[in-house]
Amino acid sequence: MSVLRKELFDLPPGVIYLDGNSLGPLTKQVAARLTQLVTDEWGNGLIRSWNKAGWMAQPQRVGDMIAPLLGAPAASVMLGDTLSIKVYQALSAALELRPERRVVLTDSGNFPTDLYMAQGLLQSLDRGYELRIVAPEQVSAALDERVAAVLLTQVDYRTGRLHDMQAITQRAQAVGAVTIWDLAHSAGAIPLALEQAHCEFAVGCTYKYLNGGPGAPAFIYVRPDLIERVRPCLAGWLGHAAPFAFDPDYRPAASIERMRVGTPPVLQLAALEAALAVWTDVDMQALRRASVALAERFIAEVEARCPALTLASPRDPEQRGSQVSFSFDQGYAVMQALIARGVIGDFRAPDIMRFGFTPLYLDEGDIVAAVDALQVILDGELWRAPEYQVTQAVT
Ligand SMILES: *Cc1c(COP(=O)(O)O)cnc(C)c1O
Repeated sequence: MSVLRKELFDLPPGVIYLDGNSLGPLTKQVAARLTQLVTDEWGNGLIRSWNKAGWMAQPQRVGDMIAPLLGAPAASVMLGDTLSIKVYQALSAALELRPERRVVLTDSGNFPTDLYMAQGLLQSLDRGYELRIVAPEQVSAALDERVAAVLLTQVDYRTGRLHDMQAITQRAQAVGAVTIWDLAHSAGAIPLALEQAHCEFAVGCTYKYLNGGPGAPAFIYVRPDLIERVRPCLAGWLGHAAPFAFDPDYRPAASIERMRVGTPPVLQLAALEAALAVWTDVDMQALRRASVALAERFIAEVEARCPALTLASPRDPEQRGSQVSFSFDQGYAVMQALIARGVIGDFRAPDIMRFGFTPLYLDEGDIVAAVDALQVILDGELWRAPEYQVTQAVT
């Protein structure tokens, strides 16, 4: 059965959107839901809506909607804050589970904010921690008894290279290391089985493949058997066992609620909750097959028609997430020219052109049309136009 459901998305006419891996598009139910929230729940309900409209329960309710997409059980996923914050929370908790160890292992393909948050945390702890950054292929070999925690992004944001979550988690646990998976480019893109993988922590954002909208909150998963041992370093009042007791001393909630920090972003969560409706009845294995088919078609068309571009992603679809990257030294200008023609992908320095494949709203016709535009731009060297040479703040 096809997973295609374009009619649920509000894409502008004439646009082929190959950037859902960076910011998912608007879905049709979101605008009406936000209007209702603003006028009824906020406008009329005012502060009563924290109870009456279920605002306070929203972070976990939405967590329970996302859990099946992660292969996680109910009550194991909490929404809130940004992914950078969730990385910090998870790593801090992981280190406390291995107090005698001093190494955090990560790889050079990780997204910079994950590295920066780790650096900031280790510096604040000031206990001689080392952040060990190895090549992605070296992660398994670098796991040893000194590693307290391994912090990895499953799908590389630049190349789409996919880590084997199950194998690395097993290897980490064999040497006693705690595993934190960043699923920023996995959630909603590939089938996930957190419960089966048995990793301790996972984090991710919801504005990429989950279409939650710009600024949508992040999620954190904690393996249920660990939750009562996990100490929240960001001991905010809404993670307290009884926030409205206003107790001067912090006592964490017994459940995943302890990973909450402060007041939830109600409007953003409502947009996300409405956007999640598109996942009803989506078979993630079928989605994966469709994503691989789109990516394979794209690679074949580009290599046949645009020989100046070099594939920067793994050729084996089993080793890739749901994006394909090509390198080209004028990649930024080419991408600007593509965007001007309604084919939207993005660019990552120094020379990576990124294309995301989202089978809920893309079909093979879109892929062929996107490569048609790319070929016209390259054959005619249209990217040389001065307006495509100006680098904008967000690439
Ligand atoms: C997109 C992304 C982020 C973004 O973090 P924010 O705090 O939401 O800005 C972090 N890590 C990875 C791996 C990402 O892909």
